Amino acid sequence: MQLLMMGPPGAGKGTQAVKLVEKFNIPQISTGDMFRAAVKAGTELGLKAKACMESGSLVPDEVTIGIVRERLAKDDCAGGFILDGFPRTVAQADALANILSDLGKEISCVLNISVPAQYLIERAVGRRICKGCGATYHIKYNPPKGEACDNCGGELYQRADDNEATLRQRLMAYEESTRPLIDYYKASGVYHEIDGTQSIEQVTEELIRVLATVQE
Ligand code: ADP
Ligand code: AMP
Repeated sequence: MQLLMMGPPGAGKGTQAVKLVEKFNIPQISTGDMFRAAVKAGTELGLKAKACMESGSLVPDEVTIGIVRERLAKDDCAGGFILDGFPRTVAQADALANILSDLGKEISCVLNISVPAQYLIERAVGRRICKGCGATYHIKYNPPKGEACDNCGGELYQRADDNEATLRQRLMAYEESTRPLIDYYKASGVYHEIDGTQSIEQVTEELIRVLATVQE
């Protein structure tokens, strides 16, 4: 199954992708996670991505498309994957269509987690991530039991771009570049919209209900 998780920043794409990884045993491919790992490692890719991420703008298409093309060609993607946060522009969506066609695959389902802007600042500002295993928490909606990560005991941190000012920029980038993909994919017949204002568990249930109707 080739799944796309779409939605504005803070909608719950990563949270839900992790649940679907467990259920369907296919990898989650998050371009945001790939860029953050590259920034941390200080690679050339990290240098290219850092300033864009800090300012809340999108990393250039040619950089982003290149890393996704490489990643999707890896063996663990042969049985399917969950793309989380890609594509975010029409150019990326066109490139994805070409990449998939080269691999002899097609998109099985586009899952758009819809959340109005007024929820997203609180979602992003309250997000905490484990330094060890990458698990995502929310100080109010999905709090850890103690100070540290429930899974591995790792330290929790707040992403540098999870502040109100940067989130506003990220929302502008979403409105300008990513929202048009809704119409792009609506025409494909594999588009589904999910109400992301429900609880984490309710959203997961709805996603699984939708995916039960999808042809592999
Ligand atoms: P995205 O990957 O779309 O940017 P995340 O999955 O990281 O979003 O979720 C953003 C924040 O909102 C996290 O702190 C997460 O725990 C929290 N969250 C995710 N889904 C929900 C939900 N349905 N209700 C409340 N909080 C949520
Ligand atoms: P995310 O982890 O999905 O919230 O992404 C964090 C940041 O990484 C974004 O604000 C962008 O700067 C960058 N990024 C992630 N995915 C993409 C993408 N598909 N295209 C361009 N930039 C991206």
